Amino acid sequence: MSVEQKVSPDEMCELYKVKRWGSGYFSVNERGHLCVLPERREDGPRIDFMEVIEEIKEQKIAFPAVIRFHDILRSQIKLINTTFRDAIAEYDYRGSFFGVYPIKVNQMREVVEEILDAGEPYNHGLEAGSKSELMAALAYNENPDNLTVLNGYKDEEYIRLALLGRKLGRKFIIVVENVSEFALIVKLAKEMRVEPMIGIRAKLAVRGSGRWSGSSGERAKFGLTCSEILNGIALLKEHGMADCLKLLHFHVGSQVPDIRIIKEAVAEAARIYADLALSGIKLDYFDIGGGLGVDYDGSRSATNSSRNYSLLEYAMDIVSGLQQICDEAGVPHPHIVSESGRYITAHHSCVITNVVGTIHQTNSTYETGAIVDEHILLTNMRESAAILTEENYQEIFNDVQQDKNDAINAFKLGVISLEERARLETLYWQIISRISRILEEADFVPEELMQVEELKASQYLCNFSVFQSAADTWAISQLLPIMPVMRLDEAPRQRCSIVDITCDSDGKISQFIAQGGYDQSLLLHEISEGEEYYIGLFLTGAYQDVMGDMHNLFGRLNEVHVFCDDDDPADFYIEEVIKGTSAEKVLATMQYNPEMMARYVKKEVDRQIRRGAIQPREGVRLVDFYEGCLEGYTYLKF
Ligand SMILES: *Cc1c(COP(=O)(O)O)cnc(C)c1O
Repeated sequence: MSVEQKVSPDEMCELYKVKRWGSGYFSVNERGHLCVLPERREDGPRIDFMEVIEEIKEQKIAFPAVIRFHDILRSQIKLINTTFRDAIAEYDYRGSFFGVYPIKVNQMREVVEEILDAGEPYNHGLEAGSKSELMAALAYNENPDNLTVLNGYKDEEYIRLALLGRKLGRKFIIVVENVSEFALIVKLAKEMRVEPMIGIRAKLAVRGSGRWSGSSGERAKFGLTCSEILNGIALLKEHGMADCLKLLHFHVGSQVPDIRIIKEAVAEAARIYADLALSGIKLDYFDIGGGLGVDYDGSRSATNSSRNYSLLEYAMDIVSGLQQICDEAGVPHPHIVSESGRYITAHHSCVITNVVGTIHQTNSTYETGAIVDEHILLTNMRESAAILTEENYQEIFNDVQQDKNDAINAFKLGVISLEERARLETLYWQIISRISRILEEADFVPEELMQVEELKASQYLCNFSVFQSAADTWAISQLLPIMPVMRLDEAPRQRCSIVDITCDSDGKISQFIAQGGYDQSLLLHEISEGEEYYIGLFLTGAYQDVMGDMHNLFGRLNEVHVFCDDDDPADFYIEEVIKGTSAEKVLATMQYNPEMMARYVKKEVDRQIRRGAIQPREGVRLVDFYEGCLEGYTYLKF
């Protein structure tokens, strides 16, 4: 390997767009390691990823692992609350801000507890969308000043649970998504002799943009039309319960890329609020739902993996938009409720995985010499290799592309032998490598030859499952920042895509953040045999953490919770480790019985012992080994 080219932390931050997607929480230190700045200050505490990794190894915790930075979670809660408070003060708005965290974004108890704890000074509550989430809210959202907003379709049990919250003196607001729920709430509230707090979800005409635009618009699955809202209110009035109406809710979808959509939705919903207020229905809360986006690709644009606004702009536009319509109508300013979840959780967790193998196209080392009576395509390829120069490389590139395609067709027809194909492909990749080196020196790269780098890209095999840890990259082409956490003082020179260890061909990542758009490959370092090389998948705290499935029976990851501690020499300590799923647990969820499996295997081994094919001592070892693997981690061990 040539002498590595040294680079500065700033250059590496720029290459991987760390400052763009990192929201101030990530940086590269002088040792060339990625680090976390829990206080978003370069001069504040710094947690070096490699030190965390060393400690994880010392504790004998296997990779891949999820690392959670609880300080980031706390900081995001503070940020959203203080920003809205600032916007409210700036405009002299009369209402207050109340956040509620939607449990579905990351249901982990530790995450919910941390958010409630950090949200204590701001009365940051919870949002639940199912009975299980509601039960979690009943147990954990104890502060009587916090809101709990209850969305989703509801049955009797759901409403009874919500009313139990009211019995406990909590602000549990049942948001009606469907007209039939009004009558059910009235009936059960009377039966349980408790005053409900009711919200209504408005079906807005404004359509979101981005991937979740289906959550809004006239064909959305949730929400009440204007006539349904008025009919519902009439029903509540009949029962003398119009005062129970407290909140107006809308949600235009998650990850809204364009601020224009937010403004339009606020304007439309504010008109509903104002008209209801004028008719004597005074709602206390105006709930703007979720949708506050995360800039995953750092482009600050209205594209699906980004957003074209900042948190401050978001808050200011909502406060001022709502205020303007209220003032025009001469109605009071309602409290503002936000159900942001993605924004709060995305940055706090990441997946650290190790590269367990590399697949280099260009490393083919087979012989290339002539064979007797060889096919003309092989001869041509050898000639192309012989005459390649800095002058004719473009022409040669075109020739060899054609020759290689022809050769594969000829192979399929049985015209070219396996031996000939192996030699021809070896020559082809040697030519591609040489052209790539010529291009590195060239002042100008012709359009057609742009693909050389992609062609030549290696595959880095990483110890994780896309389906467990980065489901959205597979399901909806969500872009996630991916980069090495080490050797960031050397220029990476290897173009790669990332493949996982599932045996699904979809188990790969081939879309990466790049200068002004996306690339199919990512620049990583060349790694030598046996070298440990760690890569991080970042911003996985929202949805990715908890949506993963057990495709190929890979289970949940080991999880490490890191807290910042300024007094500690390394600025951090590991507070908790949650073991990932063992093979036996994963199997058991799919109805296997691991104990029985071990017995079956033992029975087979015993049979072979009786036949004399396995020595008894070896048999015992083999059975122990099988049982040990059942108890072990589902990922690769190195
Ligand atoms: C999913 C969801 C949210 C969370 O949205 P984010 O974009 O993650 O902030 C909020 N409210 C409702 C009703 C939801 O369904």
